[in-house]
Amino acid sequence: MSRRLAAALALALPLSASAQTVHRFPPEGPQDHRTEPFDAGVVGPADSEQTAREYVLADDWHTLPPINYIPPPYAAQALEGIRLCLDPGHGGDADRRGYKRGSTGFRESVMNLTVARYVREFLEASGAEVVMTREDDTDPEGGSLEYRGRLADRENCDLFISLHHNATSRGDANYLSIWYHARPDSPLANVDLARHLALSMNDLMRHAEPHHMGLYSDWLMYPPDPEEGHPDVLRMDTVATRPSGFGVLRHARVPAVLVEGSFYTNRDEELRLMDREYLRREAWGVYMGIVNYLWAGIPAITLHPDQPGTVTGPRPTIRLSLDDGMHEGWARNAPPRIQRQTLTLYIDDERCDTRYIPSRAELQVTPRADLAPGEHGVRLRVLNAWGNWSWPREVRFTVE
Ligand SMILES: [Zn+2]
Repeated sequence: MSRRLAAALALALPLSASAQTVHRFPPEGPQDHRTEPFDAGVVGPADSEQTAREYVLADDWHTLPPINYIPPPYAAQALEGIRLCLDPGHGGDADRRGYKRGSTGFRESVMNLTVARYVREFLEASGAEVVMTREDDTDPEGGSLEYRGRLADRENCDLFISLHHNATSRGDANYLSIWYHARPDSPLANVDLARHLALSMNDLMRHAEPHHMGLYSDWLMYPPDPEEGHPDVLRMDTVATRPSGFGVLRHARVPAVLVEGSFYTNRDEELRLMDREYLRREAWGVYMGIVNYLWAGIPAITLHPDQPGTVTGPRPTIRLSLDDGMHEGWARNAPPRIQRQTLTLYIDDERCDTRYIPSRAELQVTPRADLAPGEHGVRLRVLNAWGNWSWPREVRFTVE
């Protein structure tokens, strides 16, 4: 971008923003986060004798179009009733010399926690609930990735987002990577979330290597045994004897992604990451990715209002209501805006016979084999018109 264009944008944005009533982050308090020093112990001990003070803080990113930190008007609606689990990677590693830190000693675990706190602030101000796998500079449960991944499930969260920064031996490497747990071509909700995060974070952070689209399957890094592994598209699990993908994602039972915001092994990037305002910009990218993903709506089923929760076996027909998850008011009573060829329903993870009545937004499902007395579950797989897959949720009913 030319300097003239950047200057024009910098002028234009505050003007257009002031024309409407807006909510600002933070509502009050310090606007310049660069004035807040990081806590003692955050920087260092360094890998080398160099310290951050020997460098002049890189100021280049300040020429990017500024962010006004005003949530879009649809944010509150998209985030209403949503619970997110944020996982700031690592922690408690101040004394581990050379472990996960840049050349000046700035620790990844601190970057991750700082970004997570900002993301939480943005989300909570928009009405979402946030659970964190750690609140401070510790590694919970002795560094258990399973603990972190499972927390989203235990805390009834809808999404799990692990926040990290990247490292490599190539010193000039600097690009975004959003990792989803799945086969590279898996049609899953976590790929939808990853795609939205990649778009907004690439846009806001302007990495040195923008040719990376930033969307990666964790199977590219840790493939399963080709004979034994396959992704369970209904449960988000990987069914494999050899663990595949990232541990923290493998244990999540909700749509889950791992964000590697940028490379702290790139010296210029490490200096940017030591600037709180830059971390806040990154957090805004995460926040906007979440908002835009959820705004696209999540198609879902519920038991039809006239459908009792207990039915007579062995092959009951269950009536369900279908919601495309999209928000438009006047079109709310129109037939669901789903991509019908993708519509698939499962009872206890087995495909079932399905009758779809679009005019009533109703589904009637019947198992293809007898159901034993007891609890059973129906799952939906469908894509809505905005391109979001349904979540791997189960609607329960009982056969007597
Ligand atoms: Zn990490």
